[in-house]
Amino acid sequence: MTTAIVVGSGPNGLAAAARLARAGVGVTVLEAADTIGGGTRSGELIVPGLVHDHCSAFHPLAASSPFLRSLGLEAHGLRWRWAEVECVHPLDDGSAGVLHRSVEETAAGLGADGGRWRRVFGPLTAHFEALMADAGQPILRVPHHPLLMARFGVRAVQPGAAMAHRWRSEPARALWTGVAAHACYRLDRPLTSAVGMMLLTAAHAQGWPVAEGGSQAIADALAADLRAHGGVIETGRRVTSASELEGADVVMLDVSPGVAADLLGDRLPGRVGRAYRRFQHGPGAFKVDFAVHDGVPWTAPAARRAGTVHLGGSAAEVLANERAVTTGSMPERPFVLVGQQYLADPTRSVGTIHPLWTYAHVPNGYTGDATEAIVAQIERFAPGFRDRIAGMAVRSATEMSVFNANYVGGDIIGGASSPRQILFRPRVARNPYATGVPGVYLCSASTPPGAGAHGLCGVNAADRALASLSQ
Ligand SMILES: Cc1cc2nc3c(=O)[nH]c(=O)nc-3n(C[C@H](O)[C@H](O)[C@H](O)COP(=O)(O)OP(=O)(O)OC[C@H]3O[C@@H](n4cnc5c(N)ncnc54)[C@H](O)[C@@H]3O)c2cc1C
Repeated sequence: MTTAIVVGSGPNGLAAAARLARAGVGVTVLEAADTIGGGTRSGELIVPGLVHDHCSAFHPLAASSPFLRSLGLEAHGLRWRWAEVECVHPLDDGSAGVLHRSVEETAAGLGADGGRWRRVFGPLTAHFEALMADAGQPILRVPHHPLLMARFGVRAVQPGAAMAHRWRSEPARALWTGVAAHACYRLDRPLTSAVGMMLLTAAHAQGWPVAEGGSQAIADALAADLRAHGGVIETGRRVTSASELEGADVVMLDVSPGVAADLLGDRLPGRVGRAYRRFQHGPGAFKVDFAVHDGVPWTAPAARRAGTVHLGGSAAEVLANERAVTTGSMPERPFVLVGQQYLADPTRSVGTIHPLWTYAHVPNGYTGDATEAIVAQIERFAPGFRDRIAGMAVRSATEMSVFNANYVGGDIIGGASSPRQILFRPRVARNPYATGVPGVYLCSASTPPGAGAHGLCGVNAADRALASLSQ
């Protein structure tokens, strides 16, 4: 029997494992942590019974991932739940940019920018599945839908800041910039519109759903599928040497390029080893989870119904602060992402105490404490929030990298969204998953199509491995 070892049980490791197991390969997953799931773990942190997502929270890309859909994970308990409003970006004057699942409803709320919003996102939303099929693959290939990719690409190649300046009203400008800021990189660089274009199109096509019971449900469902096809998972197994991987026909590394270089050492071709060691990591995340009495008293009414709230003020302020964290300085008022998953999934709450998920963008390796900066940003748009805090749990940028070795310096998206790494990650190659060591593949979010709990990096890598086995 052909055998495979998968190092790491993040969504990409588990997706690779499931694909291989379904093809008849005998798969063993080795996970360093005591719990499976990597960036899709959830659990109690503050109040018994209150469920917090430790990392990923909203899953437009997982819910529309062609591979995850093909597995029928509902049979293993995965259920998507949507808040009434996808995302709100409140402003200091009480107005807000509001993202609804419907293009029409969003456009109707954006006044003078409504027509442009319709023109930019309407056609892409109508063909989102086709867009995902191409955007979910490495760049060096002929797209299946060249015209659609051209329509997407003409905006995606632009700096996020240039796209921001095209909106006439501040709510539209800020809404765009907050979503583009998911790239977690300075937005004055080419190609930094790609993430915003994809997430906004996904919001209209699919919404930004959460997994009922916590994101852990995604990992648990993938693991159940894997086990149903004979796969085995061992937790508490940090792989530190290539000797632990011997004997397997295929090895899938759901790890950072730096860890892959350490593990494979001299076995890596020199140019690959150099590329892995030169791989750049982006700004970090500083996470604070709260237990909150009666929810957040947002000034903007739509924010009280929204799954996600982006806090950073005007587009100009967000652009300046994203530039600061990318270049290594901590702004006084960092960009903060807030998740109110309980609005979509009330099972996460305990009575009138709700879990609130937040993180701030901070410089890579930031050793300071951003807790007060996060509380202050929430207070700015929800006066009285501080009095509702029943408890909090903090995970700094440096603690992030202890929680998950893939979060180098607190970089939670598997590598800087620099122009080069948006196009080519982890290196320029026709097969970016190949390490150059026969049978060994990199399959983490540091490979195309990049961050997110969609499992596509894992599946793409597994497909390359299966194709090579059948030759
Ligand atoms: C705060 C935060 C918010 C996020 N929000 C979202 C969101 O809303 N939506 C979304 O789609 N994505 C989000 N993400 C990103 C998402 O979680 C990641 O992109 C995704 O988990 C990457 O999957 P992966 O399989 O590549 O790696 P990971 O999920 O990072 O998993 C890697 C696994 O490998 C293990 N590992 C590493 N080294 C070794 C070793 N040597 N031996 C054994 N095991 C090892 C790790 O312990 C880990 O379990 C967020 C992440 C964070 C941290």
